[in-house]
Amino acid sequence: MPNQTVIAENIHRLQERIADFAAKYARPVNDILLLAVSKTRPVEDLLAAYQAGQRHFGENYLQEALVKIQSLQNTDIQWHFIGAIQSNKTRDIANEFDWVHSVDRSKIARRLSEQRSPDRAPLNICLQVNISNERTKAGITPDMLTQLAKEISTLPNIKLRGLMAIPVKTDSFHEQRSIFQQMHQAMDQLNQQGFSLDTLSMGMTEDMEAAIAEGATIVRIGTAIFGPRAQK
Ligand SMILES: *Cc1c(COP(=O)(O)O)cnc(C)c1O
Repeated sequence: MPNQTVIAENIHRLQERIADFAAKYARPVNDILLLAVSKTRPVEDLLAAYQAGQRHFGENYLQEALVKIQSLQNTDIQWHFIGAIQSNKTRDIANEFDWVHSVDRSKIARRLSEQRSPDRAPLNICLQVNISNERTKAGITPDMLTQLAKEISTLPNIKLRGLMAIPVKTDSFHEQRSIFQQMHQAMDQLNQQGFSLDTLSMGMTEDMEAAIAEGATIVRIGTAIFGPRAQK
């Protein structure tokens, strides 16, 4: 079976699983967006997903992403940047993407706002939270969220939409839920402080159900759509 057919089937199967989990956890299915994480995949694979109806794609590596954005420029794809951000690379991120999930310091947010064309809709931003408190991981600790949200909420060309996390891997569904629940609580707390966040970017191939159970609005799925990645 050609890869193209497999990818289309995977997309449809995931849409069904998302609908099933939405029903199971009493959530409106339209509140949950499937983001296809296409890092390391060739543009043909993205096109196959696109032809199966997929419109949102997430990329981690800027140079690789720019090539794909260029080849798919006649589509209505929404591009999400979900990788580590170097401050000298913000200009292309600011203008070639619709969303950035991995903001974890105000300097980056300021540069994205300064470099985003004011003629366009503001760039959608999520703050990456180091929710499992890993010393080496990207993201800010939850206790710094209010301050960072305050610092960036007045910037004109970006819009603070919500929070993103990549928790440590665990096979325990209970532990997965408990971490995602902390993310939901962190967002609720910010909203009580006067912010208006509507986005929780959490859940990957291995923990999608737990994320949906705890309120994910964007699930970021790579492997379940495109198959296992080659080691990088
Ligand atoms: C690679 C990646 C994903 C997708 O992971 P899968 O396990 O392949 O679904 C999601 N989010 C981020 C930030 C990633 O880097």
